[in-house]
Amino acid sequence: MPYTEDRSSWYEGQGLWAHVPESDWNDWTWQLKNRLTTAEQLERYMTLTPEEKAGCLFANQKLALAITPYFFNLIDRENPDCPIRKQVIPRSDEEVLSSGEMLDSLGEDEHSPVPGLVHRYPDRVLFLVTDRCAAYCRYCTRSRLVSNAQDYNFHPEYEQALRYIEAHPEIRDVLLSGGDPLLLSDKKLDHLLGRLRAIPHVEFIRIGSRIPVFLPQRITPELCDVFRKHGPVWMSIHVNHPKEATRALKDACERLAFAGVPLGNQSVLLKGVNDDADVMKALVHRLLRMRVRPYYIYQMDLITGGAHFKVDVRRGIEIVRALRGHTTGYAVPQYVIDAPGGGGKVPVNPDYVQEITDDEVVFRNFEGKVYRYPLKAAPLPERPGVVTPAELHL
Ligand SMILES: *Cc1c(COP(=O)(O)O)cnc(C)c1O
Ligand code: SF4
Repeated sequence: MPYTEDRSSWYEGQGLWAHVPESDWNDWTWQLKNRLTTAEQLERYMTLTPEEKAGCLFANQKLALAITPYFFNLIDRENPDCPIRKQVIPRSDEEVLSSGEMLDSLGEDEHSPVPGLVHRYPDRVLFLVTDRCAAYCRYCTRSRLVSNAQDYNFHPEYEQALRYIEAHPEIRDVLLSGGDPLLLSDKKLDHLLGRLRAIPHVEFIRIGSRIPVFLPQRITPELCDVFRKHGPVWMSIHVNHPKEATRALKDACERLAFAGVPLGNQSVLLKGVNDDADVMKALVHRLLRMRVRPYYIYQMDLITGGAHFKVDVRRGIEIVRALRGHTTGYAVPQYVIDAPGGGGKVPVNPDYVQEITDDEVVFRNFEGKVYRYPLKAAPLPERPGVVTPAELHL
């Protein structure tokens, strides 16, 4: 059955927490304090399947369980296959190890000149500033360190990292990630962004964060002032399913956009969550309406215990094919695989070009029809009625 949604409405309200004062609900520290972090807490509100119960126990050794009340409201508690539920409630599948999986599948630790800094591409660095998030995604690429359930004991060395960036004039782009950088206090972010802004060769500063999705209350006017002060600061948010595009997220994106923060989105292609062209189309349309440009769709990294989320790359390519030409160009993200071992992001978009020779390019359009573009320009014979340069006495 094709996915359908009510396009005219945005989910809103306090749901199960309708009794809580609005001032608490809209306070991000209240949301963090009241996160659901154990099977017992979840079972106050819903019935867990045996696989989920087992998964919750195993989470203590793998990646912590935490869900904000705001995000928990988006779960369909009657449906074990709910796409929101699958993203944040652990399952026993996480215990299953499969071939090819690695703790650090992108070889980030090997490319770290300083703890927390990954320098893989010549001109840009990934700066991991914390190992904590507002809620935890069961497919997290950095589950080796995020939440510290595996005792990685991540300690970012801000001062060392900043000195490394200062000493490397080739670094023009700094991406703050983690963990979730927006869990840092306004003061700390102000300081970090100020230090980065003061480095003349750093032209481009961006933040990767799922906080707008898990905890939109964190996007306060004070935080927006920090971005305005040090702008332009770009941000990639992380929305996987149209159900996550609520009124609260839309409003948070508006506050960010009005503070001058250009917004992009990164989705991870996940089995049973968004591996469907209609779901993805509904998602990218909602993103545009929230001022967010779809940036990447990631093929899942080869993290340990992630096989149950894996989607066939051919299916991913067909999903992107169903978007390109069939909807607004701005709505079409790049589909990429982050090369295992640390090769960087490689596009695996649908192929439209059939052949390129010295004479022509042969390609298909979005409807599958074949077109040709000639590459060789041969002078044409004179055409009747066309005045030649000779006739003009030039
Ligand atoms: C993803 C990533 C970046 C940023 O890549 P873009 O394609 O520029 O968005 C930078 N460094 C590392 C290590 C990354 O994984
Ligand atoms: S928000 Fe990002 S870093 Fe945090 S658990 Fe999810 S994917 Fe991992």
